[in-house]
Amino acid sequence: ALAAATLAIGIVRGQPMMDSFMAAVALAVGAIPEGLPAAVTIMLAIGVARMAKRRAIIRRLPAVETLGSTTVVCSDKTGTLTQNQMTVQEIHAGNTRYAVSGIGYAPEGSIDAVGVAPRSDRAMRWTARAGMLCNEATLRHIEDLWRVDGDPTEGALIISAGKAACDRASLNVQFPRVDMQPFESAHQYMATLHDTPTDERLIVIKGSLEAIVSRCGHVLDELGESVPLDVSNVTHAADEMAATGLRVLAFAQKTVPMDFNALSHETITDGFTLLGLQAMIDPPREEAAHAIEICRRAGIRVMMITGDHALTAGAIARKLGMIEPTAVDADVVVTGKALDSMSDEELRKATEHAVVFARVSPDNKYRLVEALQSNGHVVAMTGDGVNDAPALRRADIGVAMALGGTEVAREAADMMLTDDNFASIESAIEEGRGVFDNLKKFIVWTLPTNGGEGLVIFLAVLFGVALPILPVQILWINMTTALLLGLMLAFEPKEADIMLRAPHPPNSPILDRAMVERILLVSVLLCAGAFGLYEWELMLGVTEAQARTTAVAVFVLGEAFYLLNCRSLSRSVFAVGLFSNPWIWVGIVLMLLLQIAFTHLPMMNTLFQSEPISLGAWLRATACGALIFVVVGLEKAWRGHRRQAPSRMSVAA
Ligand code: ADP
Ligand code: MG
Repeated sequence: ALAAATLAIGIVRGQPMMDSFMAAVALAVGAIPEGLPAAVTIMLAIGVARMAKRRAIIRRLPAVETLGSTTVVCSDKTGTLTQNQMTVQEIHAGNTRYAVSGIGYAPEGSIDAVGVAPRSDRAMRWTARAGMLCNEATLRHIEDLWRVDGDPTEGALIISAGKAACDRASLNVQFPRVDMQPFESAHQYMATLHDTPTDERLIVIKGSLEAIVSRCGHVLDELGESVPLDVSNVTHAADEMAATGLRVLAFAQKTVPMDFNALSHETITDGFTLLGLQAMIDPPREEAAHAIEICRRAGIRVMMITGDHALTAGAIARKLGMIEPTAVDADVVVTGKALDSMSDEELRKATEHAVVFARVSPDNKYRLVEALQSNGHVVAMTGDGVNDAPALRRADIGVAMALGGTEVAREAADMMLTDDNFASIESAIEEGRGVFDNLKKFIVWTLPTNGGEGLVIFLAVLFGVALPILPVQILWINMTTALLLGLMLAFEPKEADIMLRAPHPPNSPILDRAMVERILLVSVLLCAGAFGLYEWELMLGVTEAQARTTAVAVFVLGEAFYLLNCRSLSRSVFAVGLFSNPWIWVGIVLMLLLQIAFTHLPMMNTLFQSEPISLGAWLRATACGALIFVVVGLEKAWRGHRRQAPSRMSVAA
C-alpha cells in the first residue's frame, strides 16, 4: 500500500513516471525482509541438528518452533517415564502371597510363600507356567548380560517362571502352541492355545486384572482345587500390590475340546479358571524425575497417560514427583472409564488439574488432546501403538518412539525419540525454546532495516528529493546483512533462564509491545542517520553516488552495531559476554570486508552504482552506528529498571 501511495504521490507531484516507479519499487524492496524466509529455515534446521544431538529427531521443520511453546506434555508411562526393566517381585496365588527374589533378567532367585505356606503350591506353579506359555518374548544371554527380545513385561514372566522351575523347552514339547491372539492395549489381554498330553486342548490367557477376571468363574484355592471366584478378594490383593507401584498381570486357563482350533475375541469370553497374579516392578527413570522438575519450573505441565492400573500409575507418578504430596489420588488420577462417561465440557474441566490418566484407550487419548487444546494448550503427546496415530496427528507435537514404537506411530509423529526417554522430550523443548528465542532476536534485529529503508524512500518522495538509496542497493543491504550478520544469532547460546520462564502464551503475537517499540525506534534512527548523512555529504560537495554509498554504509554499520544489542532481548551485551558467540564477530568482519568491496571495487561500483568514499565519510557512518548501539543499550537498561522496580517494591512491602 505504501508503495502504491509512493507512486501516486510522485505522479500527483508531476515527477517523471520512471522516477516515481523506481521509488515505489525501492519502497517495496525495502519494506520486505527478503532474507527472513532463508534465515528462518536455516535457524530451524540448526535447531533440528541440535535436537538430534540430544536424541530427538524432528520429522517436520516447524515442529522446532512449536516445541518452544509447548505447555503440556502427555507422556506414556512404561518405558518413557520408567526404565522398562521389569522384574516380577510378588506372586499372589492360592490365597497366598509369594515373594520372588532376584533382580533384573538374570534367572537366579527363588519364590517363597510369605507367612504360612499353603498345602499345595499348584496355583503358584500354574500361574508361573501360564506366564511362560502365553508369551512371545525370548531371553538371550550375551556376554554375561541377559537381554529380552520382545516385550519387557513378557521377559519378566519368563524369568519368574524359571524361578518356579519351569523349563521352556520341555513345556514346548508338552504343550505345543496351536494358535495365538496377540496382546493389544485396547483389549488388555493375550491368549494362546495349546495341545496337551491329554485329549483336550488348553487356552491360556494373561492380561490386566479386569480383562482376565471378567472371563473367569473359578479360581484355584490353597489346595490347588478350582472353587467359585470371589472377585472382591482378588481385586483387593491386586490393589494392594498396585498401590506400591507394581504392575499387576492376571493369569487364567481353561480346557477345550480337541476340535477347538481358532482363537478370537468372540471365543474367549468366559469359563476360565483364575490361576493367580504376578506383580512386577518397573523402576522410574532417574533422569525422568529431574526432567519433570525442570518442566515444572518452566511452567510446562507433565501428564502421565497409561494403559496400566490407576493405583500403579498413581504410585509411579508420586515416585516421579508429578503429584503434589498433599494431593489425594482421587483428585488427580482419572481412569479411562471415568473419562468415557464425561462430556467434552466435563473433560475440559478435569484436564485442568488431572495428572494421571490410567487404563486409557487410544480413543481416550484423542479426546484428551482435544480437551487440552480447547483449553488453549499446546500439547505434546507420546504414543507407540498403531491406534495412537490419530492422537499423535491431532497433537501439536506427536512424539513417537524409535526403539519401541510401531511404524504407523512413527509416520504420524512430528518427532521421534531415539532412546524412548522422557528426558529427551524435555531437552527438545529446551532446544525449541532456544530456537524460538533466536528467531525472535533475528526478527527484532531485521525489521528495523526494512522500516528504516521504507521510511527513507517514503520521505524522499514526500519531500520530492532524489532517493538516498537505490532499489538495488537496498537489495544488497537486505540480502548480505541477513545472512552474514543476522544468521549468526542462530549460534547464540541458550540463555541461562530459558527453562525458568513460563512458555510463550500460545495465542499471543511473537513480538510484544516493547519489541515493536524498539523496532520503531531503531527504524527511525536508521532513517535519520542515512537520510541525514546523505544530505550532509551532499552539502560537503560529494557526488550523489558517493552520498548514497555513505547512506548504505550507515545501514550496514548500524545493523552491525545493533546486532550486538540483539544478542539478548533484555540483558545488556556486556552482561551476555561480548565474545561469548564468536560467530557474531566472524559475521561482522566478513560484512565489513564486503562493504569495503562494495564501496571501493570498480566492478561493484558498476553493479551497484556505488562510488568510493572518504575516510571521513566512513567515520561519520560508523558514528551513526555507534549512536544506535548506545541508544538501544540505554533503552534496554531503562526497561530492565522498570521491570525490576515493582518486584523490589513488593519485596520491601
Ligand atoms: P502401558 O504401556 O501404558 O503400561 P499397556 O497398554 O501396555 O500400558 O498395558 C496395559 C495393561 O495390560 C497392563 O497393566 C497389563 O496388565 C496388561 N499387559 C501389558 N502388557 C501385556 C502383555 N504383553 N500381555 C498381556 N497383558 C499385558
Ligand atoms: Mg505397553
